[in-house]
Amino acid sequence: MALLNEHFLKLSDNSLFSEIEKKVNSFKVIYPKADLINLGTEDVILPLPTTAADAMQQAINDMGKESTFHGYGPIRGYNFLIDAILKNDYAPYGIQFESNEIFINDGAKCDIGNISNILRHDNTIGITDPTHPMYINSSTLSGRTGDMEKDGSWSNVIYIPCRESNHFIPELPSQRVDIVYLCSPNNPTGIALPKNELKKWVNYAIENDTLLICDSTYKAYIQSTDTPHSIYEIKGARKVAIEICSFSKSAGFTGIRCGYTVVPQELTAATLSGGRVQLNPMWEQYQKIRYNGTSYISQKGAEALYSPEGKEQIRKNIIYYMNNARMIKKALENMGLKVYGGKDTPYLWVKAPRPLSSMKFFEKLLFDAQILSTPGIAYGSEGEGFIRLTAFERKERCEEAVQRIYKYV
Ligand code: PLP
Repeated sequence: MALLNEHFLKLSDNSLFSEIEKKVNSFKVIYPKADLINLGTEDVILPLPTTAADAMQQAINDMGKESTFHGYGPIRGYNFLIDAILKNDYAPYGIQFESNEIFINDGAKCDIGNISNILRHDNTIGITDPTHPMYINSSTLSGRTGDMEKDGSWSNVIYIPCRESNHFIPELPSQRVDIVYLCSPNNPTGIALPKNELKKWVNYAIENDTLLICDSTYKAYIQSTDTPHSIYEIKGARKVAIEICSFSKSAGFTGIRCGYTVVPQELTAATLSGGRVQLNPMWEQYQKIRYNGTSYISQKGAEALYSPEGKEQIRKNIIYYMNNARMIKKALENMGLKVYGGKDTPYLWVKAPRPLSSMKFFEKLLFDAQILSTPGIAYGSEGEGFIRLTAFERKERCEEAVQRIYKYV
């Protein structure tokens, strides 16, 4: 008899996203001809930079010839891409890594989930609230979160509140935590952590022997000058942090799948007997067991993003989304709404007008303005009273959305 990983069953209780889906489906049934504007998506809309598309075309041609065919690639990824990452994403910030400290991934999500498989199931975890559900969900599958309480929280999770009163900046927990997930710039609040705040976390991690798992998926959107593009800009971070990055949002790679994970050689975790084990070789071994690498074609596309043309095309796409975000933010503020974020991410964290709950505001926007948003409560109890809007839409559609919200408000 095959027994189930029953932690899975706990996730089926987590039905907020399915409730949202049901509401959207019923909207579509009631208004089949409605012109719904999707400001609830995390997926980009602009096409790949042509330089990446061309490089992948070339890579496909390589694969079709015996002399340039590529089968299984190196487990850590091809050096042509790792070198480009080191040279462009780290060296300009004064950060030096060896190439064996970078692992090419197939997008951030898999590594965010899988990294916890090399860590014991009974580590305590700290998660900012609100936060993207993937950190909790993958921790639940590993049996790390305990049970779900009536209010939807998990018994073994230390929640780190990010609310208006602390400017959505997570405060250090009063107790020690084994693993903390940090996402900066943040989805859903849109807030990025400035250097002094990241420093606090690195110092906390050093003092408490905490592992920081840093999700930097949105780092390409950072505009603030005091905000690091990498946790490793902070002294001591390589002893305590893993950084997970992605080309999904910066370069439209959501459907191509490529990114990278940094596991520094200095980073260690403890064994029960008190020894220390380097995580880098452990992660390499895990990848050998569970993964056969990101495709040569995706990696060739990603390499091209670091060419001058690639960088320019990414810059233009980011400006496009950020202009949308700025325009929506300004318009909503002019309507008297409180709007956060939109400065270092294309995400806006909008306060629901009183007395609407997060879910009610979402429903009102859906049924009265035909705009799809995401209720903040889906990201944790601290998301109550907020919705998230994203700027991954055509400019004209964002303008239309603002008009509709104006009429509704
Ligand atoms: N991290 C955050 C905060 C995200 O919002 C997302 C996707 O929306 C991901 C990671 C996953 O990105 P990827 O496409 O690289 O798997």
